Amino acid sequence: MSTSSLSDTRSAELYRRALHVLPGGVNSPVRAMRAIGRDPIFVERASGAELTDVDGNVYVDYVCSWGPLIHGHAHPAIVEAVIGAAALGTSYGAPTAGEVELAEAITARMPSVDMLRMTSSGTEASMSAIRLARAATGHDKLLKFAGAYHGHVDGLLAQAGSGLATQGIPSSPGVPASAAADTVVVPWNDPEAVRRAFAEHELAAVLVEPYPANMGLIPPAPGFLELLRDLCTGYDSLLIFDEVITGFRVAPGGAQELTGVLPDLTVMGKILGGGLPAAAFGGSAALMERIAPAGDVYQAGTLSGNPLAVAAGRATLALLDEQAYMTLSDTTRALADGLREAAGDRPVSVTSTTGLVTVFFAAEAPTDYAGAVACDSEAYGTWCRALLARGVYPPASQFEAWFPSLAHSSEHITRTVEAAAAAFAEAA
Ligand code: PLP
Repeated sequence: MSTSSLSDTRSAELYRRALHVLPGGVNSPVRAMRAIGRDPIFVERASGAELTDVDGNVYVDYVCSWGPLIHGHAHPAIVEAVIGAAALGTSYGAPTAGEVELAEAITARMPSVDMLRMTSSGTEASMSAIRLARAATGHDKLLKFAGAYHGHVDGLLAQAGSGLATQGIPSSPGVPASAAADTVVVPWNDPEAVRRAFAEHELAAVLVEPYPANMGLIPPAPGFLELLRDLCTGYDSLLIFDEVITGFRVAPGGAQELTGVLPDLTVMGKILGGGLPAAAFGGSAALMERIAPAGDVYQAGTLSGNPLAVAAGRATLALLDEQAYMTLSDTTRALADGLREAAGDRPVSVTSTTGLVTVFFAAEAPTDYAGAVACDSEAYGTWCRALLARGVYPPASQFEAWFPSLAHSSEHITRTVEAAAAAFAEAA
């Protein structure tokens, strides 16, 4: 796939400079847009559902910072909360009322979370939840699914989705064999492979994105999450839901509310921090009280529970009432149906659940990572470039979800569907 040549735009100039000081010119791989055969777009500002680049081009944004911005960009109430918090001091390294209130707001929503510990990233939250699961069970091995992404923790990079899938990296150099040795990877939606893994290994935990969105959105087959729950209970392993994407998005209480399957531990992030760095892991008080200083499992963070992030998170959750989820569900359906219609009888399938959409260039929606990898990424790239040329900013990889937000109006959706139809004519 050819990469578009550097031109004389301001984005191109910044990219040239960035390549000297940032590996690949970016601070996180998928921003580079290499998978869709073009150079990155440097952003100047954003408001609601619209992003403006440094050259003055405006896009309807479906990345929305990869998930945190469920209310769109720069929502006035969230901006005001952050400014108000900043004026009182940016970090104290001491507890605040806001942390207690955010923790209460989270436990009120997430059915299986009675107590939680905040971190600054989803990666840290995954890493800490695994440490706790190992301490609680006395076992080391962990089961994860091919194509799922749980952050860039050494032992979790085996057959991971998201940026690794996009770059075709099955695991990362630099991960010691010993770190990967305790990770057992099985295909998503494969009950027999999971049963076999339980029979063959003493598992501390099953770590799962309950609605995986890092190999594109591939929902669980009916009964699959229930099977994981039963096996974990039967074998005294912990079930860990990674709800970094699904939490507060697919339902107020995430996928665990949507499906009724309750994990032992939950990893959260993204929406929880309202666009600032915040994440958390949580579960029953009995498990969470193993965490220091209540217990002996060490976990810490200089900026954990940062007052600005906490203020953004609280303001974000406070705006998420029942009506918000009905609106997000309608917007998602309109987008997914519109994209399906725009694709017509081309070999394209669209998966969706509230707040998440993926467009796969394959006649049948994949049910696992191998299916996602088999999709036509070249055609997806061509389609994305055509969308960008028409003012729509999609995720620059088929192994990611689109994130419709509450700021996407019906006019945005109409514009997007029209652009998609024209772009399909070029791509598939
Ligand atoms: N878990 C899931 C499901 C994610 O999608 C991500 C990031 O995209 C993470 C964990 C890691 O979160 P962070 O990027 O905040 O470290």
